[in-house]
Amino acid sequence: MASADPGATPMLDEFRRLDAVQHGHFRLSSGLHSDTYVQCARILERPDVAGRLLAELARAWRDGAVDAVVGPAVGGILVAYELARALGARAVYMEREGQRLAFRRGFALRSGAPVLVAEDVVTTGGSAQEVLAAVREAGGRPVGVASLVDRSSTPGGGFDVPFRSLVKLSPPVYAAEECPLCRQGLPVVKPGTRPEAQRA
Ligand SMILES: [Zn+2]
Repeated sequence: MASADPGATPMLDEFRRLDAVQHGHFRLSSGLHSDTYVQCARILERPDVAGRLLAELARAWRDGAVDAVVGPAVGGILVAYELARALGARAVYMEREGQRLAFRRGFALRSGAPVLVAEDVVTTGGSAQEVLAAVREAGGRPVGVASLVDRSSTPGGGFDVPFRSLVKLSPPVYAAEECPLCRQGLPVVKPGTRPEAQRA
């Protein structure tokens, strides 16, 4: 499913208006370097804006009777919550136990229940893929992946279910050893939330 729908440009304007699109030298949670970072906290700190934008994103799954929206902590929690609100579904999040994501706090999925996976930003799609696998293992039936931002370079984010996002960004990303900003000696900022040892 294409993520570059006609609504993409006004959405990007809204992200820029709230300073969610930042420029500099960043190490993304995937480990890749980039000159552009999307700070989703600038959107999610405004429940009125986040609720409105995510209700828009949820439209794609409105007819699917989604039972639960599942996001990885920390970035996916609020995204899952607002999508779930719009879809009348449960909001569930997964947390790291060592290297793997796990359902804690008594969160469980009903067997065969339609589940939407939520993320803040998809770059390599690593966390969302982990959630998809865990949902299937837990008996759920993934019906899609939804994210605020798609900065993947693979069509459809590389997922085997429909993928939609509010904003599609394709700034160049570099392996650390090939990063031209590193070569210029610019200090690198790591704005993500995932501890270095746990990045995937
Ligand atoms: Zn760099």
